[in-house]
Parts: sequence; C-alpha cells; structure tokens
Amino acid sequence: MAELRITDVRKAYGRVQALAGVNLTVRSGALMAVLGPSGSGKTTLLRCIAGFETPDEGEIRVDGHRVATADTSVPPERRRIAVVPQEGALFPHLSVLGNVAYGLDRAARRAGRAAAVLDLVGLSGFQDRMPHDLSGGQQQRVAVARALAPRPPVVLLDEPFNALDAALRAELRQDVWQALRADGATAVLVTHDQAEALSMADEVAVMRDGRIVQSGPPELLYHVPASPWVASFVGDAVWLPAVLDGGRARTPLGALPVVHSEGALPPGPLCVLLRPEQITLAPPGAAGAVAATVVRRDFYGHDAVLALRLADGTSMAARIFDPTAAPPAVGDEVTLRVHGTARPYPLGGHSDSPRDD
Ligand code: ADP
Ligand code: MG
Repeated sequence: MAELRITDVRKAYGRVQALAGVNLTVRSGALMAVLGPSGSGKTTLLRCIAGFETPDEGEIRVDGHRVATADTSVPPERRRIAVVPQEGALFPHLSVLGNVAYGLDRAARRAGRAAAVLDLVGLSGFQDRMPHDLSGGQQQRVAVARALAPRPPVVLLDEPFNALDAALRAELRQDVWQALRADGATAVLVTHDQAEALSMADEVAVMRDGRIVQSGPPELLYHVPASPWVASFVGDAVWLPAVLDGGRARTPLGALPVVHSEGALPPGPLCVLLRPEQITLAPPGAAGAVAATVVRRDFYGHDAVLALRLADGTSMAARIFDPTAAPPAVGDEVTLRVHGTARPYPLGGHSDSPRDD
C-alpha cells in the first residue's frame, strides 16, 4: 500500500505535448481508473510512474518519496511498482508457476506465494501449463498474478483487457479487482472503456489532451460531469436546448428541475444534459408528458434504446427497461416523461463531442 501523488507532470515528444501538466493523487489502497480517448497521454503517464520515461517537469511521489522529477529518477526496478502491459508478455519457456515465481525471493517462493497468487486470479489448477497452452484470458490472468506476486505497493495496468472478448473481459475484471483488493495494492488502471472505468474503479480520472479534466467517484463523473465533453465521454448523453426560468429549465420536454453547482452560468442560451435512462414512457395523457415518434429501436435484451423525435423536430434517445412489456416499434407514437434533474451547460460545448477525437 502506498499513496501515489503526481504533481504538474509534463512530458513532450518533440512537438507533441503528451502530458501537459498532470495532477493526480491516488489514495493508498485505492483503484484509480485513468479514462481517456486514444492519444490522450494515458500510456505516457503510466510510463512516467513506472520509471520507463522521465518527466520534463513536475514530480511523482510514492508514499511521500520522490521517485521522479526532471533531475532525479529512481530506476524502475527500485520503485516497487508493477506493470501489467496490454498483452501479457509472458516468458514462453517458463511454466505458469515459473512465470509467476520469476521475480520472487527465496522466502516468498518457499512460502508458496506463487501458488497463492495464482489462486487469487482463478488459476490454481494451471501451475504446470506452458503459456502457449493458455487462452488469451488465462495469459492475462498469469500476467496479473506475476505482477502481484512480489506484493508491490503500486500496480499499474495499461488496458489489460483489450485483447479479450466482452464476456471474458467482464469476468476477468471481477477477478483482477478481487485480487488487487486481497493484496491491498494501490492500483492505476488505464482504459478508454468507460464501462470498465465506472464499474471497477473507486475513482476515475478523465484525461484529455495530456491533462486530467475531472476526477472523482464514478457516480460523480456520471451525474455531475464538469463539462459537456466529460458528460458525453463517460456515458450516453441527451442534450436539449434550454432557457433557465427560476429553478427550472424550459426545454422541448417541458420545464425540468435543474441543478448546477460550479458557480453562475453565463447569461444566454444553454443546453441541459439528461441521461437516456431519465426519459421513460408514460401513459397517454399523463401530467407533464410529451408526445414523440419512435424513429429507431435498438433492443439489447436487458433494455432497449429508442431514438425519438418530438413534433418540433427535437431528437433524443431514451433507454427503456420494462421487463414485462415489449418496447414500442418504429413509427409508434409514445408519450415521454422525465425523471430526476437536468444539468445546464453553456450552449455550444456539447457539440465538442469526444467520439470525434
Ligand atoms: P494513450 O495511451 O492515451 O493512447 P499515449 O500516451 O500513448 O496515449 O500518447 C500520447 C501522445 O504522445 C500521442 O500523440 C502519441 O502519438 C505521442 N507519443 C507517445 N509516445 C511517443 C513516443 N515514444 N514518441 C513520439 N510520440 C509519442
Ligand atoms: Mg495507451
């Protein structure tokens, strides 16, 4: 266990400013996800923490000890930081047990640490297998076990589940989470997958263009995003034009209660954020309900997403979960109701879509 503190870290490759002043603190024993689009600097940040790169400016401290500044760099092998790379990179000529025991001292080997950590990642029966006899998911489990075996206070994982299919990924996430927990390691997980970040992490730091643009618990990022860009990057967003009127916003879906915390909003046109699951179907004629036409239906089993158009032309998405009813079909007329509060943002920011980066 160790606190990780990153202060004003900058790193350029030629004219590319990969890290443009990163500030981030990871509490001892916490799992922090660094979530950002491709090219936002996530791998560069991990490489600076691990010691494979030296920051141009700023400093990195592990449990208060400076491991990296522009002039001092503790070599990677003395940082006690383990790295799980994107693809496991196991030693092909060593067995599973051999791979995991590789970095262990004699005492740890004798104490059966390698077998114990294989058990943690759900591979107790696989000690004598060779890496080429394992599936991709099993190889990643071995890579995680090998990283955890020497009980490093800090574990860094760089998109470790990318190469795996969705079902396997969900299962492995769970097991890795449990293994990290069992060990009490401080962990940083880099990912571009918002579901992975929100579901696994205690805190999520959203990275864009070499900076952390917001960090906090998953619920906060999802419900109180600091900008339209963050809102759209961490989940599906519905943007509606709005005019503030007392404590409410007048929108095409009616007057919605609004909350906004970060100071006063600029005067002028606004948009408000809703999440698609805040829009539900209501019985026709229900108070405050608005009529819409279904223009598209994506059925997912556990829910369905409807693309809807209002009479005034406004389009939006609604996520419908009614386990007892079939979702409406394309062309159906429905009535909509909004649940919860909307969050206002200055108009314009929401067109700055993260998916276009
Ligand atoms: P991410 O992991 O979020 O995809 P990276 O940290 O790999 O982002 O890259 C951030 C930026 O720095 C990108 O523009 C990338 O092209 C650039 N970059 C990363 N590593 C190098 C390198 N060794 N040499 C030159 N440019 C690099
Ligand atoms: Mg990367």
